[in-house]
Amino acid sequence: MTGALLSLSAVVHIYFIYSFLLFIPQIIFFAHLGGEIRISVMLLGLIYIPYIYSLSMASHKSLKASIQAGEQLRASVEELHTMSTTDPLTGIHNRRYYFAIAQNLIDLSVREKCDISLLMLDIDFFKKVNDTHGHHAGDFILKEMTTTIKPLVRKSDVFARMGGEEFSILLYDASRPNALKIARKICSIIANTTFNYQNTSIPITLSIGVASLDHDHNTLDQLLATADKNLYTAKHNGRNCCVA
Ligand code: GH3
Ligand code: MG
Ligand code: MG
Repeated sequence: MTGALLSLSAVVHIYFIYSFLLFIPQIIFFAHLGGEIRISVMLLGLIYIPYIYSLSMASHKSLKASIQAGEQLRASVEELHTMSTTDPLTGIHNRRYYFAIAQNLIDLSVREKCDISLLMLDIDFFKKVNDTHGHHAGDFILKEMTTTIKPLVRKSDVFARMGGEEFSILLYDASRPNALKIARKICSIIANTTFNYQNTSIPITLSIGVASLDHDHNTLDQLLATADKNLYTAKHNGRNCCVA
């Protein structure tokens, strides 16, 4: 945009010099044809019409270029923002976005005295999936599983890939019993979904740890620590289950 404006100012400069030079013949015309006003006006018109036309064309072109540059800049900024907040493999939010937004949502819930819960999800024996079917199959599972879970969370919830085969969902306005209900639903749907990779069916299960806002849990760190502890218990209890 700055470039376009600079190019516009260059054009204006040239036209200022050009119009200044045009004053010289104008003065000469009036001096010689002072009595013949009509001829003077016609001659000046002949000189000025192409000048005004080309000036307006140049301004229009520069304005168009500056609008296009502005739109491109806005699109690039949006793309950069999306890239910095999105997990490239699954297309959901990444850890950076999650941490940027989670504490604010928790603070809001504390202020508004409303519920908020957090789920930590971890795929069971995912290393074995990679070892048995290959890394591409593992990537496929991560994408498909995300696609399956996405419709189960609301727009106001934050679903993010925390890294590897670990995910988290921040459930806004969800009490502990409700969060546990949602966690169990997710567990059951994933366990009953057939993930077909190149004609091979790969069974997948999840373990989920749940933590909810209360007197002892009113910061993101406290909620994450409890959700992690409960996830560990879920793994210890045999996996494919949820602990709140
Ligand atoms: P557990 O039930 O105890 O969670 O066992 P696990 O095998 O799921 O856990 P572990 O931490 O031993 O292994 C996690 C595996 O996840 C190992 C790693 O190769 C795999 N992984 C992490 N990120 C990716 C990824 O982006 N793509 C693929 N295909 N695999 C990944
Ligand atoms: Mg893990
Ligand atoms: Mg795992």
